[in-house]
Amino acid sequence: MPWRVASAADVVASSGCGGLRERLQTLSPDPTPAVSELLFINASQVVTCAGPGRARRGVEMADAQVRRDVAVAVIGETIAAVAPPDELERAHPAAQRIDCGGGVLTPGLVDSHTHAVFGRPRFEEQELRAAGVAYMEIARGGGGIHSSVRDVRARDVGELAALAELRLRRLASYGTTTVEVKSGYGLTVDDELKLLRAISLVSERVPMRVVPTWLGAHEIPVDFRERGDGGASYVKLLVHEMLPAVAAGRLARFADVFCEPGVFTTAQAREILLASKRAGLGLKLHADELEPSGGAELAAEVAAASADHLAAISEAGVNALASSQTVATLLPGTMLFLGRPRQAPARALIAAGSAVALASDFNPGTSPTVNFPLILTLGVSQLHMSVAETIIAATVNGAAALGMADRVGQIAPGFSADLALFDCEDIRELPYWYGDRRCRGTWVRGETCHPSSVPIS
Ligand SMILES: [Zn+2]
Repeated sequence: MPWRVASAADVVASSGCGGLRERLQTLSPDPTPAVSELLFINASQVVTCAGPGRARRGVEMADAQVRRDVAVAVIGETIAAVAPPDELERAHPAAQRIDCGGGVLTPGLVDSHTHAVFGRPRFEEQELRAAGVAYMEIARGGGGIHSSVRDVRARDVGELAALAELRLRRLASYGTTTVEVKSGYGLTVDDELKLLRAISLVSERVPMRVVPTWLGAHEIPVDFRERGDGGASYVKLLVHEMLPAVAAGRLARFADVFCEPGVFTTAQAREILLASKRAGLGLKLHADELEPSGGAELAAEVAAASADHLAAISEAGVNALASSQTVATLLPGTMLFLGRPRQAPARALIAAGSAVALASDFNPGTSPTVNFPLILTLGVSQLHMSVAETIIAATVNGAAALGMADRVGQIAPGFSADLALFDCEDIRELPYWYGDRRCRGTWVRGETCHPSSVPIS
């Protein structure tokens, strides 16, 4: 694959290894140009999502900018142009041509909420739930998050990174090119740092864009629960020991808290989030998943990048998000997998003018799916969103939930060349063929991410 060679030369050039670069050119009778050029041709549709480089709110989500009869030119890591094919053929005669074979080209999908670093899967809980065993009962029996915590504490960083690498590659094979990954199954200073180091390791091994989030406040660990102080001493540990270590190691871009009755109260979540903000981290919040507890309002109050879950958000919460910059990130796969009838009120959020994102919540307990297009299916069938709204939610607004909507999530000049190609003629087929893997290839920063079966000339 010639552009891979070019990229290697780019790396050599940018790292200042002039001698090696010269040697590469001497070895090759036809030296590869320093900057690679790609031309994506023969797509039946190019869904550009082009528009302002920020979250799309309310009615802005209704238009995903579906274009026909255009090609996409990429120079190096960046989208250069979206224009009629003959025009781009003339402008880029030396470009590698990537034949999209009548498929649909979209921005690479942005999965802004996952817990992708974990040890063993927890498949036994699914049958227990089906048999009517309550979540709290499963937890009392040693299952739930505590089970993943015990498992993660017993593994080393290399093992965790290797498991995560396999899982992230599966996410990429369904069209995801940017993925946020949370810690949260360690719950001690050392184990949380271990998880964040595993995320850092895996981000060097996979071509995807990986965004690390510190979720030390995922649950109150068993030994701290036994103290009977409502989690106060664990919050102290989080704020005064764990957070400084995470910030000093520059291991996370965001901090997140599981704010829910019985876990962290809104007052505790506020304390952790404000301390995290002072430490230079962006903010996220697991909010109003099971009960309306003021989580959405808190996310808006502290200007969090996103409030996530929201199946039980109150009307005041909807209004708070609508008048804030905080993205409402909805995770319909979780409610479906848990067999719960209630889904987040996507229509009310959009009608109020909020920015809605969709994400997989990929995790071993409540949403073990790597299939992001399936989440789009649920966006349509469970959340009553239009297909265009689900695409904006999975690209531009996912990027906004990660603070990168100015450079990721659009097929538009100047944006990162993150692309996904699907085996469909119409974008509406993507959520329609539910559960199917239609992705034929993904590219990140102009480099192949998921191996594609696409002809190249
Ligand atoms: Zn989560």
